[in-house]
Amino acid sequence: MSDTVMNRPAAASLDEQSIRAFGERLRGQLIRPGGGEYEQARLVWNGMIDRRPALIARCADTADVVEAVNFARDHGLLVAVRGGGHNVAGHATSDGGIVIDLSPMREVEVDPERRIVRAGGGALWADVDAATQAYGLAAPGGLVSDTGIAGLTLGGGLGWLRRKHGLSCDNLIGAEVVTADGRVVYTSENENFDLLWGLRGGGGNFGVVTRFEFMLHPVGPEVMAAIVFYPVESAREALRGFRDYTATAPDEVGALTFFGTIPAAEAYPAELHGRRYLAVGAPYIGPIEEAERALQPLRELAEPMLDLSGPVPFVELQKMFDEDYPAHTMRYYWKSAFLPGLDDAAIDELIELNERRPSAHSTLDIWHLGGAIARSGPDNSAFTTRHYLYMVAPESNWEHPEEDEDNIAWTREVVKQMEREAQGKRYYNFPGLNEEDDSDIEATFDEVYGRLVALKNKYDPANLFRLNQNIKPKA
Ligand code: FAD
Repeated sequence: MSDTVMNRPAAASLDEQSIRAFGERLRGQLIRPGGGEYEQARLVWNGMIDRRPALIARCADTADVVEAVNFARDHGLLVAVRGGGHNVAGHATSDGGIVIDLSPMREVEVDPERRIVRAGGGALWADVDAATQAYGLAAPGGLVSDTGIAGLTLGGGLGWLRRKHGLSCDNLIGAEVVTADGRVVYTSENENFDLLWGLRGGGGNFGVVTRFEFMLHPVGPEVMAAIVFYPVESAREALRGFRDYTATAPDEVGALTFFGTIPAAEAYPAELHGRRYLAVGAPYIGPIEEAERALQPLRELAEPMLDLSGPVPFVELQKMFDEDYPAHTMRYYWKSAFLPGLDDAAIDELIELNERRPSAHSTLDIWHLGGAIARSGPDNSAFTTRHYLYMVAPESNWEHPEEDEDNIAWTREVVKQMEREAQGKRYYNFPGLNEEDDSDIEATFDEVYGRLVALKNKYDPANLFRLNQNIKPKA
Protein backbone atom coordinates (compact mmCIF):
# COMPACT_ATOMS: atom_id res chain seq x y z
CA MET A 1 0.00 0.00 0.00
CA SER A 2 1.40 3.41 -0.90
CA ASP A 3 2.22 6.14 1.59
CA THR A 4 -0.41 8.37 0.04
CA VAL A 5 -3.14 5.86 0.62
CA MET A 6 -1.97 5.07 4.16
CA ASN A 7 -1.80 8.73 5.15
CA ARG A 8 -5.12 9.70 3.59
CA PRO A 9 -7.10 11.65 6.21
CA ALA A 10 -9.91 9.50 7.56
CA ALA A 11 -12.47 12.27 7.33
CA ALA A 12 -11.96 12.59 3.58
CA SER A 13 -12.15 8.91 2.79
CA LEU A 14 -14.94 7.71 5.02
CA ASP A 15 -18.64 8.02 4.75
CA GLU A 16 -20.72 8.74 7.79
CA GLN A 17 -22.65 5.51 7.46
CA SER A 18 -19.58 3.26 7.62
CA ILE A 19 -18.27 5.12 10.64
CA ARG A 20 -21.59 4.79 12.43
CA ALA A 21 -21.81 1.09 11.63
CA PHE A 22 -18.25 0.59 12.87
CA GLY A 23 -19.07 2.39 16.14
CA GLU A 24 -22.11 0.19 16.62
CA ARG A 25 -20.09 -2.98 16.15
CA LEU A 26 -17.68 -1.98 18.93
CA ARG A 27 -18.35 -3.10 22.48
CA GLY A 28 -16.09 -0.26 23.54
CA GLN A 29 -16.39 3.33 22.41
CA LEU A 30 -15.74 5.25 19.20
CA ILE A 31 -14.58 8.77 19.99
CA ARG A 32 -14.62 11.46 17.30
CA PRO A 33 -13.68 15.14 17.02
CA GLY A 34 -16.38 17.30 18.52
CA GLY A 35 -17.45 14.63 21.02
CA GLY A 36 -17.23 15.50 24.73
CA GLU A 37 -14.35 13.16 25.47
CA TYR A 38 -12.28 13.81 22.37
CA GLU A 39 -9.99 16.56 23.65
CA GLN A 40 -8.88 14.45 26.60
CA ALA A 41 -8.83 11.14 24.70
CA ARG A 42 -6.51 12.44 21.98
CA LEU A 43 -3.75 13.41 24.43
CA VAL A 44 -0.64 11.32 24.93
CA TRP A 45 1.90 11.63 27.74
CA ASN A 46 4.40 13.92 25.97
CA GLY A 47 3.11 17.53 25.99
CA MET A 48 5.05 18.19 22.75
CA ILE A 49 2.68 15.97 20.80
CA ASP A 50 -0.48 17.75 19.68
CA ARG A 51 -2.27 15.61 17.11
CA ARG A 52 -5.87 15.18 16.07
CA PRO A 53 -6.82 11.68 14.99
CA ALA A 54 -10.07 11.27 13.06
CA LEU A 55 -11.17 8.23 15.08
CA ILE A 56 -10.25 6.81 18.47
CA ALA A 57 -11.48 3.25 18.88
CA ARG A 58 -11.45 2.51 22.61
CA CYS A 59 -11.43 -1.26 22.50
CA ALA A 60 -13.12 -3.29 25.22
CA ASP A 61 -11.74 -6.66 24.12
CA THR A 62 -9.95 -8.63 21.43
CA ALA A 63 -13.06 -8.70 19.20
CA ASP A 64 -13.06 -4.88 19.19
CA VAL A 65 -9.40 -4.84 18.19
CA VAL A 66 -10.20 -7.19 15.28
CA GLU A 67 -13.02 -4.82 14.20
CA ALA A 68 -10.71 -1.82 14.42
CA VAL A 69 -7.85 -3.46 12.49
CA ASN A 70 -10.23 -4.61 9.73
CA PHE A 71 -11.89 -1.22 9.52
CA ALA A 72 -8.55 0.64 9.40
CA ARG A 73 -7.13 -1.67 6.74
CA ASP A 74 -10.25 -1.68 4.57
CA HIS A 75 -10.46 2.13 4.64
CA GLY A 76 -6.76 2.80 4.18
CA LEU A 77 -6.35 4.62 7.50
CA LEU A 78 -3.08 5.45 9.18
CA VAL A 79 -3.02 3.25 12.30
CA ALA A 80 -1.67 4.23 15.72
CA VAL A 81 -1.79 1.63 18.49
CA ARG A 82 -2.06 2.85 22.05
CA GLY A 83 -1.11 0.86 25.15
CA GLY A 84 -0.13 3.19 28.00
CA GLY A 85 0.27 6.24 25.71
CA HIS A 86 3.76 6.94 27.10
CA ASN A 87 5.80 6.69 23.94
CA VAL A 88 8.11 9.72 23.94
CA ALA A 89 7.79 10.21 20.16
CA GLY A 90 3.98 10.10 20.39
CA HIS A 91 3.62 6.96 18.31
CA ALA A 92 0.25 6.28 19.91
CA THR A 93 -1.52 8.97 17.90
CA SER A 94 -1.55 10.72 14.52
CA ASP A 95 -3.22 13.51 12.60
CA GLY A 96 -6.24 12.27 10.70
CA GLY A 97 -5.76 8.53 11.31
CA ILE A 98 -7.29 5.98 13.65
CA VAL A 99 -6.05 5.25 17.18
CA ILE A 100 -6.60 1.66 18.26
CA ASP A 101 -6.72 2.39 21.97
CA LEU A 102 -6.37 -0.55 24.34
CA SER A 103 -6.54 1.51 27.53
CA PRO A 104 -9.72 -0.24 28.79
CA MET A 105 -8.00 -3.64 28.44
CA ARG A 106 -6.12 -3.61 31.75
CA GLU A 107 -7.17 -6.93 33.29
CA VAL A 108 -4.42 -8.88 35.07
CA GLU A 109 -4.55 -12.55 36.03
CA VAL A 110 -1.83 -14.19 38.14
CA ASP A 111 -1.11 -17.90 38.24
CA PRO A 112 1.12 -18.11 41.34
CA GLU A 113 1.66 -21.88 41.01
CA ARG A 114 3.12 -21.64 37.50
CA ARG A 115 4.58 -18.20 38.20
CA ILE A 116 2.91 -16.61 35.21
CA VAL A 117 0.96 -13.40 34.77
CA ARG A 118 -1.39 -12.58 31.89
CA ALA A 119 -2.24 -8.95 31.31
CA GLY A 120 -4.34 -7.03 28.78
CA GLY A 121 -2.62 -5.00 26.07
CA GLY A 122 -3.60 -1.71 27.76
CA ALA A 123 -2.32 -2.60 31.25
CA LEU A 124 0.16 -0.37 33.04
CA TRP A 125 3.08 -1.64 35.14
CA ALA A 126 1.24 -0.44 38.26
CA ASP A 127 -1.55 -2.94 37.44
CA VAL A 128 0.87 -5.82 36.99
CA ASP A 129 3.02 -4.95 40.03
CA ALA A 130 0.01 -4.67 42.37
CA ALA A 131 -1.42 -8.03 41.26
CA THR A 132 1.85 -9.97 41.26
CA GLN A 133 3.30 -8.53 44.49
CA ALA A 134 0.24 -9.87 46.31
CA TYR A 135 2.03 -13.22 45.84
CA GLY A 136 5.56 -11.88 46.41
CA LEU A 137 6.23 -12.19 42.67
CA ALA A 138 7.19 -9.69 39.97
CA ALA A 139 7.69 -9.41 36.21
CA PRO A 140 10.57 -7.18 35.09
CA GLY A 141 9.03 -3.84 34.07
CA GLY A 142 10.30 -0.26 33.92
CA LEU A 143 11.12 2.36 36.54
CA VAL A 144 7.85 4.32 36.29
CA SER A 145 4.59 2.61 37.16
CA ASP A 146 2.22 4.43 34.81
CA THR A 147 4.01 3.42 31.60
CA GLY A 148 2.25 0.79 29.50
CA ILE A 149 3.43 -2.82 29.59
CA ALA A 150 2.88 -2.98 25.83
CA GLY A 151 5.21 -0.36 24.36
CA LEU A 152 7.85 -0.91 27.03
CA THR A 153 7.99 -4.68 26.52
CA LEU A 154 7.88 -4.58 22.73
CA GLY A 155 10.84 -2.18 22.73
CA GLY A 156 12.90 -4.22 25.23
CA GLY A 157 12.14 -3.05 28.76
CA LEU A 158 14.81 -1.89 31.21
CA GLY A 159 13.94 -1.86 34.90
CA TRP A 160 15.35 -2.55 38.35
CA LEU A 161 15.24 -6.33 37.82
CA ARG A 162 17.08 -6.26 34.50
CA ARG A 163 20.43 -7.68 35.59
CA LYS A 164 18.94 -10.42 37.74
CA HIS A 165 16.02 -11.46 35.51
CA GLY A 166 16.59 -9.80 32.12
CA LEU A 167 14.63 -7.35 30.01
CA SER A 168 10.84 -7.25 30.07
CA CYS A 169 10.83 -8.79 26.59
CA ASP A 170 13.08 -11.65 27.76
CA ASN A 171 10.34 -12.59 30.22
CA LEU A 172 7.57 -12.50 27.62
CA ILE A 173 6.57 -16.13 27.14
CA GLY A 174 3.31 -15.78 25.26
CA ALA A 175 1.04 -13.29 23.56
CA GLU A 176 -2.29 -12.99 21.78
CA VAL A 177 -1.89 -10.84 18.69
CA VAL A 178 -4.32 -9.40 16.14
CA THR A 179 -2.43 -9.35 12.87
CA ALA A 180 -2.92 -6.97 9.92
CA ASP A 181 -5.31 -9.39 8.19
CA GLY A 182 -7.56 -9.40 11.27
CA ARG A 183 -6.60 -12.88 12.50
CA VAL A 184 -6.13 -13.63 16.20
CA VAL A 185 -2.81 -15.45 16.51
CA TYR A 186 -1.43 -16.99 19.67
CA THR A 187 2.32 -17.14 20.04
CA SER A 188 4.49 -18.87 22.64
CA GLU A 189 7.74 -20.79 22.74
CA ASN A 190 5.88 -23.77 21.23
CA GLU A 191 3.54 -22.05 18.82
CA ASN A 192 4.36 -19.46 16.14
CA PHE A 193 7.65 -18.80 17.90
CA ASP A 194 8.84 -16.53 15.09
CA LEU A 195 6.23 -13.99 16.15
CA LEU A 196 7.18 -14.16 19.85
CA TRP A 197 10.81 -13.68 18.87
CA GLY A 198 9.87 -10.52 16.93
CA LEU A 199 7.72 -9.13 19.74
CA ARG A 200 10.74 -9.43 22.02
CA GLY A 201 12.33 -6.10 21.07
CA GLY A 202 11.02 -5.69 17.50
CA GLY A 203 8.36 -3.16 18.55
CA GLY A 204 4.75 -2.90 17.41
CA ASN A 205 5.56 -3.95 13.84
CA PHE A 206 3.76 -7.27 13.69
CA GLY A 207 0.27 -6.69 15.06
CA VAL A 208 -1.74 -5.48 18.03
CA VAL A 209 -0.93 -7.44 21.18
CA THR A 210 -4.14 -7.93 23.10
CA ARG A 211 -2.67 -10.11 25.86
CA PHE A 212 0.84 -10.44 27.25
CA GLU A 213 2.04 -13.42 29.25
CA PHE A 214 5.15 -13.01 31.44
CA MET A 215 7.26 -15.25 33.65
CA LEU A 216 7.32 -14.19 37.28
CA HIS A 217 10.10 -14.23 39.87
CA PRO A 218 10.08 -14.05 43.66
CA VAL A 219 10.86 -10.43 44.57
CA GLY A 220 10.44 -8.57 47.88
CA PRO A 221 7.83 -7.66 48.99
CA GLU A 222 10.51 -5.44 50.54
CA VAL A 223 13.85 -4.76 48.89
CA MET A 224 16.84 -2.77 50.02
CA ALA A 225 17.75 0.16 47.78
CA ALA A 226 20.70 2.56 47.73
CA ILE A 227 19.48 6.04 46.82
CA VAL A 228 22.28 8.52 47.28
CA PHE A 229 22.84 12.07 46.05
CA TYR A 230 26.40 13.36 45.68
CA PRO A 231 27.23 17.02 44.99
CA VAL A 232 28.01 17.47 41.30
CA GLU A 233 31.45 18.74 42.32
CA SER A 234 32.25 15.13 43.37
CA ALA A 235 30.95 13.64 40.13
CA ARG A 236 34.35 12.58 38.77
CA GLU A 237 35.27 10.67 41.92
CA ALA A 238 31.74 9.20 42.28
CA LEU A 239 31.46 8.15 38.62
CA ARG A 240 34.86 6.46 38.67
CA GLY A 241 33.78 4.67 41.84
CA PHE A 242 30.51 3.69 40.17
CA ARG A 243 32.43 2.28 37.21
CA ASP A 244 34.74 0.26 39.47
CA TYR A 245 31.83 -1.01 41.56
CA THR A 246 29.80 -2.09 38.54
CA ALA A 247 32.79 -3.98 37.11
CA THR A 248 32.20 -6.71 39.70
CA ALA A 249 28.67 -6.01 40.97
CA PRO A 250 26.48 -9.06 41.49
CA ASP A 251 23.46 -9.49 39.21
CA GLU A 252 21.20 -8.70 42.18
CA VAL A 253 22.21 -5.03 41.85
CA GLY A 254 20.46 -3.09 39.06
CA ALA A 255 22.28 0.24 39.31
CA LEU A 256 21.66 3.53 37.59
CA THR A 257 23.51 6.79 38.06
CA PHE A 258 22.21 10.14 36.88
CA PHE A 259 22.99 13.83 36.86
CA GLY A 260 20.15 16.15 37.83
CA THR A 261 19.04 19.13 39.89
CA ILE A 262 17.19 18.82 43.20
CA PRO A 263 13.66 20.17 42.68
CA ALA A 264 11.97 22.55 45.08
CA ALA A 265 9.82 19.75 46.46
CA GLU A 266 8.93 18.89 50.04
CA ALA A 267 10.61 15.51 49.77
CA TYR A 268 14.02 17.26 49.75
CA PRO A 269 15.56 19.49 52.44
CA ALA A 270 15.01 23.16 51.50
CA GLU A 271 18.73 23.95 51.64
CA LEU A 272 19.35 21.48 48.80
CA HIS A 273 16.73 22.86 46.41
CA GLY A 274 18.33 23.82 43.11
CA ARG A 275 21.62 22.00 43.84
CA ARG A 276 23.08 19.96 40.99
CA TYR A 277 23.89 16.36 41.82
CA LEU A 278 25.07 12.98 40.61
CA ALA A 279 22.74 10.39 42.16
CA VAL A 280 22.87 6.61 42.38
CA GLY A 281 19.75 4.44 42.47
CA ALA A 282 20.28 0.72 43.00
CA PRO A 283 18.06 -1.94 44.52
CA TYR A 284 19.39 -5.33 45.59
CA ILE A 285 17.07 -8.07 44.38
CA GLY A 286 17.75 -10.61 47.10
CA PRO A 287 17.75 -11.07 50.86
CA ILE A 288 17.81 -7.78 52.81
CA GLU A 289 20.63 -9.10 55.06
CA GLU A 290 22.95 -9.51 52.07
CA ALA A 291 21.78 -6.29 50.49
CA GLU A 292 23.12 -3.87 53.03
CA ARG A 293 26.69 -5.13 52.66
CA ALA A 294 26.50 -5.38 48.88
CA LEU A 295 25.15 -1.84 48.42
CA GLN A 296 27.35 -0.10 50.99
CA PRO A 297 30.11 0.90 48.51
CA LEU A 298 27.52 2.82 46.43
CA ARG A 299 26.83 4.94 49.53
CA GLU A 300 30.50 5.82 49.90
CA LEU A 301 31.50 6.87 46.38
CA ALA A 302 32.20 10.38 47.76
CA GLU A 303 30.75 12.51 50.56
CA PRO A 304 26.95 12.33 49.99
CA MET A 305 24.75 15.39 50.32
CA LEU A 306 21.66 13.23 50.83
CA ASP A 307 21.29 9.50 51.49
CA LEU A 308 17.76 8.08 51.31
CA SER A 309 18.86 4.42 51.24
CA GLY A 310 16.89 1.80 53.12
CA PRO A 311 14.38 -1.02 52.76
CA VAL A 312 11.37 -0.16 50.61
CA PRO A 313 8.31 -2.13 49.44
CA PHE A 314 8.97 -3.17 45.84
CA VAL A 315 5.68 -1.60 44.64
CA GLU A 316 6.79 1.71 46.17
CA LEU A 317 10.21 1.47 44.53
CA GLN A 318 8.40 1.03 41.21
CA LYS A 319 6.61 4.36 41.81
CA MET A 320 9.59 6.28 43.14
CA PHE A 321 10.02 8.42 39.99
CA ASP A 322 6.32 8.68 38.98
CA GLU A 323 5.86 12.29 40.08
CA ASP A 324 8.90 13.46 38.14
CA TYR A 325 7.16 12.80 34.82
CA PRO A 326 3.76 14.53 34.70
CA ALA A 327 1.59 13.72 31.69
CA HIS A 328 0.45 16.27 29.06
CA THR A 329 1.99 19.40 30.62
CA MET A 330 5.76 18.93 30.21
CA ARG A 331 7.74 18.60 26.98
CA TYR A 332 10.00 15.56 26.63
CA TYR A 333 12.76 14.41 24.29
CA TRP A 334 14.76 11.30 25.29
CA LYS A 335 17.47 9.45 23.39
CA SER A 336 20.21 6.92 24.03
CA ALA A 337 23.72 5.73 23.20
CA PHE A 338 25.39 2.45 24.15
CA LEU A 339 28.89 2.13 25.63
CA PRO A 340 31.04 -0.99 26.10
CA GLY A 341 32.74 0.63 29.12
CA LEU A 342 33.13 3.88 31.03
CA ASP A 343 36.70 5.06 30.60
CA ASP A 344 38.04 8.22 32.24
CA ALA A 345 37.61 10.19 29.01
CA ALA A 346 33.91 9.24 28.79
CA ILE A 347 33.42 10.23 32.43
CA ASP A 348 35.00 13.65 31.81
CA GLU A 349 32.83 14.16 28.74
CA LEU A 350 29.68 13.27 30.67
CA ILE A 351 30.58 15.80 33.36
CA GLU A 352 31.16 18.46 30.74
CA LEU A 353 27.93 17.62 28.90
CA ASN A 354 26.01 17.84 32.15
CA GLU A 355 27.41 21.33 32.75
CA ARG A 356 25.66 22.37 29.53
CA ARG A 357 22.32 20.71 30.45
CA PRO A 358 19.77 23.45 29.62
CA SER A 359 16.86 22.37 31.86
CA ALA A 360 16.83 21.77 35.61
CA HIS A 361 14.08 19.17 35.01
CA SER A 362 16.33 17.06 32.78
CA THR A 363 18.57 14.20 33.82
CA LEU A 364 21.55 12.55 32.19
CA ASP A 365 21.30 8.86 33.03
CA ILE A 366 23.86 6.07 32.87
CA TRP A 367 22.31 2.61 33.11
CA HIS A 368 24.44 -0.35 34.09
CA LEU A 369 23.47 -3.27 31.84
CA GLY A 370 25.14 -6.71 31.72
CA GLY A 371 24.06 -9.60 33.95
CA ALA A 372 21.06 -11.54 32.64
CA ILE A 373 20.63 -9.06 29.75
CA ALA A 374 23.98 -10.09 28.29
CA ARG A 375 23.36 -13.82 28.76
CA SER A 376 20.61 -13.99 26.15
CA GLY A 377 21.16 -13.68 22.42
CA PRO A 378 19.68 -13.33 18.93
CA ASP A 379 18.12 -16.81 18.95
CA ASN A 380 15.79 -15.75 21.76
CA SER A 381 14.84 -12.24 20.80
CA ALA A 382 15.14 -9.41 18.30
CA PHE A 383 16.75 -7.16 20.94
CA THR A 384 20.31 -6.74 19.74
CA THR A 385 22.10 -4.13 21.87
CA ARG A 386 22.31 -6.36 24.92
CA HIS A 387 26.07 -6.88 25.05
CA TYR A 388 26.94 -3.24 25.89
CA LEU A 389 27.78 -2.63 29.52
CA TYR A 390 26.24 0.85 29.84
CA MET A 391 23.55 2.91 28.20
CA VAL A 392 23.75 6.70 28.34
CA ALA A 393 20.29 8.27 28.17
CA PRO A 394 19.83 12.04 28.11
CA GLU A 395 16.26 12.65 29.29
CA SER A 396 15.34 16.20 28.41
CA ASN A 397 12.27 17.48 30.22
CA TRP A 398 11.20 21.13 30.03
CA GLU A 399 8.18 23.40 30.18
CA HIS A 400 7.96 25.93 27.36
CA PRO A 401 7.97 25.61 23.53
CA GLU A 402 10.58 28.36 23.24
CA GLU A 403 13.00 26.03 25.06
CA ASP A 404 12.52 23.22 22.50
CA GLU A 405 15.51 24.03 20.36
CA ASP A 406 18.10 24.19 23.16
CA ASN A 407 16.90 21.01 24.83
CA ILE A 408 16.68 18.99 21.64
CA ALA A 409 20.10 20.23 20.52
CA TRP A 410 21.69 19.28 23.86
CA THR A 411 20.15 15.79 23.81
CA ARG A 412 21.46 15.18 20.28
CA GLU A 413 24.88 16.50 21.27
CA VAL A 414 25.09 14.00 24.15
CA VAL A 415 24.23 11.13 21.79
CA LYS A 416 26.66 12.27 19.11
CA GLN A 417 29.49 12.51 21.59
CA MET A 418 28.80 9.32 23.53
CA GLU A 419 27.84 6.83 20.83
CA ARG A 420 31.47 6.15 19.85
CA GLU A 421 31.76 2.69 18.26
CA ALA A 422 28.03 1.97 18.75
CA GLN A 423 27.24 4.46 15.93
CA GLY A 424 23.55 4.63 15.11
CA LYS A 425 22.55 2.00 17.67
CA ARG A 426 19.55 3.13 19.66
CA TYR A 427 17.28 2.03 22.45
CA TYR A 428 13.96 2.62 20.71
CA ASN A 429 12.01 3.07 23.93
CA PHE A 430 13.84 6.40 24.12
CA PRO A 431 13.20 7.40 20.50
CA GLY A 432 13.47 11.19 20.48
CA LEU A 433 10.79 12.23 18.00
CA ASN A 434 11.39 9.19 15.84
CA GLU A 435 13.55 11.14 13.45
CA GLU A 436 15.88 8.19 12.88
CA ASP A 437 16.20 7.11 9.31
CA ASP A 438 16.24 3.53 8.11
CA SER A 439 20.02 3.30 8.41
CA ASP A 440 19.82 3.70 12.21
CA ILE A 441 17.14 1.03 12.37
CA GLU A 442 19.35 -1.28 10.33
CA ALA A 443 22.39 -0.44 12.48
CA THR A 444 20.47 -1.15 15.66
CA PHE A 445 18.94 -4.44 14.56
CA ASP A 446 22.11 -5.37 12.77
CA GLU A 447 22.42 -9.16 12.48
CA VAL A 448 18.67 -9.76 12.97
CA TYR A 449 17.47 -7.04 10.60
CA GLY A 450 16.95 -9.44 7.68
CA ARG A 451 14.99 -11.81 9.88
CA LEU A 452 12.78 -8.93 11.05
CA VAL A 453 12.07 -7.89 7.46
CA ALA A 454 11.06 -11.49 6.64
CA LEU A 455 8.75 -11.50 9.67
CA LYS A 456 7.24 -8.18 8.61
CA ASN A 457 6.64 -9.61 5.12
CA LYS A 458 4.87 -12.56 6.70
CA TYR A 459 2.65 -10.74 9.22
CA ASP A 460 2.26 -7.19 7.85
CA PRO A 461 3.33 -7.02 4.18
CA ALA A 462 1.40 -3.76 3.55
CA ASN A 463 2.98 -2.04 6.59
CA LEU A 464 -0.33 -1.30 8.30
CA PHE A 465 1.55 -1.00 11.62
CA ARG A 466 4.08 1.65 10.79
CA LEU A 467 3.96 4.20 13.59
CA ASN A 468 6.83 2.58 15.46
CA GLN A 469 10.52 1.79 14.98
CA ASN A 470 9.42 0.77 11.54
CA ILE A 471 10.75 -2.36 9.88
CA LYS A 472 9.78 -1.82 6.27
CA PRO A 473 8.56 -4.87 4.38
CA LYS A 474 10.37 -5.73 1.13
CA ALA A 475 8.18 -5.45 -1.92
P1 FAD B 1 2.30 3.80 23.78
O1 FAD B 1 2.60 5.20 23.40
O2 FAD B 1 0.90 3.44 24.10
O3 FAD B 1 2.82 2.81 22.71
C1 FAD B 1 4.08 2.94 22.13
C2 FAD B 1 4.15 2.14 20.88
O4 FAD B 1 4.14 0.77 21.21
C3 FAD B 1 2.96 2.30 19.95
O5 FAD B 1 3.14 3.34 19.08
C4 FAD B 1 2.93 0.98 19.24
O6 FAD B 1 3.90 0.98 18.22
C5 FAD B 1 3.34 0.05 20.32
N1 FAD B 1 2.20 -0.51 21.06
C6 FAD B 1 1.60 -0.01 22.15
N2 FAD B 1 0.66 -0.86 22.57
C7 FAD B 1 0.68 -1.90 21.72
C8 FAD B 1 -0.02 -3.13 21.65
N3 FAD B 1 -0.94 -3.45 22.56
N4 FAD B 1 0.26 -3.97 20.64
C9 FAD B 1 1.19 -3.66 19.72
N5 FAD B 1 1.89 -2.52 19.74
C10 FAD B 1 1.64 -1.67 20.75
N6 FAD B 1 11.48 2.35 29.16
C11 FAD B 1 12.24 1.43 29.78
O7 FAD B 1 12.69 0.48 29.16
N7 FAD B 1 12.51 1.52 31.11
C12 FAD B 1 12.02 2.53 31.88
O8 FAD B 1 12.28 2.57 33.06
C13 FAD B 1 11.22 3.52 31.25
N8 FAD B 1 10.71 4.53 31.97
C14 FAD B 1 9.87 5.42 31.37
C15 FAD B 1 9.28 6.42 32.13
C16 FAD B 1 8.40 7.31 31.54
C17 FAD B 1 7.77 8.39 32.38
C18 FAD B 1 8.14 7.22 30.17
C19 FAD B 1 7.23 8.19 29.51
C20 FAD B 1 8.73 6.24 29.40
C21 FAD B 1 9.59 5.33 29.99
N9 FAD B 1 10.21 4.33 29.25
C22 FAD B 1 10.97 3.39 29.86
C23 FAD B 1 10.01 4.27 27.80
C24 FAD B 1 8.82 3.39 27.48
O9 FAD B 1 9.27 2.05 27.42
C25 FAD B 1 8.23 3.78 26.12
O10 FAD B 1 7.82 5.13 26.19
C26 FAD B 1 7.06 2.89 25.72
O11 FAD B 1 6.76 3.12 24.36
C27 FAD B 1 5.83 3.13 26.55
O12 FAD B 1 4.86 2.17 26.27
P2 FAD B 1 3.31 2.57 26.25
O13 FAD B 1 2.52 1.35 26.03
O14 FAD B 1 2.98 3.40 27.46
O15 FAD B 1 3.32 3.53 25.01
